[in-house]
This record gives sequence, structure tokens and C-alpha cells, in this order.
Amino acid sequence: MSLSDFKLLRPRTLDEAVSLLAKHAGEGARATRIIAGGTDLIPSMRQKLFEPEHVLDIRHIPELKGIRETEQGTEIGALTTLTSIERSPILQERYPVLVEAAKTVASPVIRNMATLGGNICLDTRCLWYNQSLTWRKSCGFCIKKDGDLCHVAPGGKKCWATFSGDTPAALLCLDAEIELVSPHGTRRIPLSDFYTGEGDNYRLLKPNELLTRIILPKSSANLFGAYRKLRVRGSIDYPLAGVAVTLKRSNGHIESGQIALTAVNPAPVLVKKASDALRGKRLDEELAGLVGDLAARTAKPLTTSALTPEYRREMIRVFTKRALLDLAKN
Ligand SMILES: Cc1cc2nc3c(=O)[nH]c(=O)nc-3n(C[C@H](O)[C@H](O)[C@H](O)COP(=O)(O)OP(=O)(O)OC[C@H]3O[C@@H](n4cnc5c(N)ncnc54)[C@H](O)[C@@H]3O)c2cc1C
Ligand code: SF4
Repeated sequence: MSLSDFKLLRPRTLDEAVSLLAKHAGEGARATRIIAGGTDLIPSMRQKLFEPEHVLDIRHIPELKGIRETEQGTEIGALTTLTSIERSPILQERYPVLVEAAKTVASPVIRNMATLGGNICLDTRCLWYNQSLTWRKSCGFCIKKDGDLCHVAPGGKKCWATFSGDTPAALLCLDAEIELVSPHGTRRIPLSDFYTGEGDNYRLLKPNELLTRIILPKSSANLFGAYRKLRVRGSIDYPLAGVAVTLKRSNGHIESGQIALTAVNPAPVLVKKASDALRGKRLDEELAGLVGDLAARTAKPLTTSALTPEYRREMIRVFTKRALLDLAKN
């Protein structure tokens, strides 16, 4: 599968990137695409899911790389690779759930190129969408690209393609915020506000905007954390269900706790009632089971991925319970 022709833009500074994006934003299928590690974008371009006129290569902008401690917490540049996150002593010590989630992405070679920004902005996935043009043409196009029906939920008008990035579940549990920059200035939003819950227009990124930084607040440092992931091939695969858990404990009780899911909905999501269920309690088998049930009820998997929705939802329940009980042993 060959790549269609495109013009490559190579800014060296953030200001240059923003003005190039403003000048060449484009629209629809031909809209400019940002390339970071390219580990998801390039396969998608080969499958003709995107045929941009311009590709903005941000890899040569030093200010988008690195992990820094600040007054407010820890900042991670959007271009920081997943390998750097995995190996960062600061993150290992303070935000272990993020390190654990990053370690499960794809394979070591891909993690050397893949960036945290790319993982957050990752396109949603579906068995009917992540296919070659010939395959999609023969089966009929769908809402997410070039068509008006959904093969997964026929009769509906919504796309249910699944968000399948690993690190955003961990970042949600850490109350991460993200910084987005455009010619109109900088905006900082909670990561949870970035995703729409729609499989097609899955993120609130304007055509002239780029993600620059991820901010982990001090209040989320040093929490106990765990990430559990279901995938077909243990050595290299997207999640088919993922659960991130963070807990703060004192005197044998849970002071606060958060659970977030990925790969079972069109967006990574926090399990809303889990925090209330955990607060002030002692962690035991019964509580872990109850929170596992809440997580399973939040998961809405459909036939967008390999493995049945029933199995993926059940594994959300199992992983949540196991992760909580594992953390209770620490
Ligand atoms: C075989 C294989 C297995 C994989 N397994 C996993 C897995 O297990 N878990 C997982 O989470 N992912 C997986 N991936 C997907 C991908 O490797 C990762 O999600 C990676 O983190 C994407 O980062 P990237 O820098 O390569 O993104 P890119 O491919 O460069 O970009 C991805 C998307 O993000 C946008 N983007 C990137 N950076 C920015 C920015 N700063 N601002 C605005 N938009 C931006 C791009 O325009 C594009 O839409 C896999 C990929 C392959 C090929
Ligand atoms: S969920 Fe439906 S509309 Fe969305 S990509 Fe899959 S088949 Fe297409």
C-alpha cells in the first residue's frame, strides 16, 4: 500500500509550526495532519484513511520534548517518546501508573518512536475502518469515512469506533491536563474534556491546533497505581480492554481512588461512581468486586474489535477487581 503524494512541512520552532498550521490547515479528507512518531499516522495514510495535502512534521521542535518538574507538578512535552516515559526516574517514582501503561504500548521498537502526544490524539479504531481502501470499498464505506451507515450498529447514525490508546486511561486517573496551542493562543483543559465520546469526531482538536504539553498535578504524585490490559498478542498489540487504577491510602483505608477504562468505548472514560465507592473504605474482596461491577457497567464494548464485547466487558470487571486487590497487598 503506497502513500499518496503530500507536501512535508518541517518547522524548527513552535511559533513556526503554529503559523504553518494556520496557513495550511486545509479541510476534510485533505486537511493537514500532524506527524509525531508516525507509528499510527503512516499506516493510516497507507490505508488511505487520511490523504492530507500537507503533513506537518513536529519532530524537530526541541521545546516539545522532555519531562520537567515545575511548581504545579510535572510537565511532559507532547513529543516525548513512550520509551523516555518508561525510563524516567521522576515518573517511575511519582506517577507509576503512567509508566506501567506506557510500557504496554505496542513493542519496544515502536515505543522508541511513538510519542505521548500521539497516544493521546490517537484515532479511534474499528474492524470495518482500519482496513485497506480495497477492503473498505468491497464491504461498503461507513460513517467514519466516506459512507453513511454503521456496520457495527446498523440503523444508527453514530460511529462507535473504539478509542484504543493505553496511556490516556492512566492520565485520566492522574487528573492530567493538556495544553493546546493555535494562532489564537494557548488553552489548557482537563484531558477528560478533550474526548467527545463520538467514534468519528472523537477529539476536540481544532484544525489549526496542536498539543504541546501534558501536565500532571502535584496532588496526583505518589499514588499507588496499576494498569491492566487485554490484548491478543502479548508482545505487540492495541488494547481490547484496559483498566487504570490509582489509590491514595492512609491507616489501612482508602483516602481517594480513581478507575479509568480504555478500549471499550469511543473515548477513554473515568468510572464515575468508583471514587465514591472507594473513599474511606478498607479494601477487601467485596469492595473490589463491587467496584469491578461499576467498571463493567461503564464499559460499552461493541463488535468494533477482535474478541467479543461480552468477554471484553467481563475482563474489565476482572481486571478492576484484580488491580485493586493487587494494590491492597502493597
Ligand atoms: C503494530 C502496532 C501496534 C500498536 N499497539 C499499540 C498499543 O498497544 N497501544 C497504543 O496505545 N497504541 C498502539 N499503537 C499505536 C501507536 O503506535 C501509539 O498510539 C503511539 O503512541 C502513537 O504516537 P505517534 O507519536 O507515533 O503518533 P502519530 O502516528 O505521529 O500520530 C497519531 C495521531 O495523533 C496526531 N498527533 C500526534 N502528535 C500530535 C500533537 N502534538 N498535536 C496534535 N496532534 C498530534 C496525529 O496527527 C495523528 O492523528 C500501535 C501501532 C502499531 C503500528
Ligand atoms: S463503528 Fe460503525 S461507523 Fe464507526 S468505523 Fe465502525 S463501522 Fe464505521
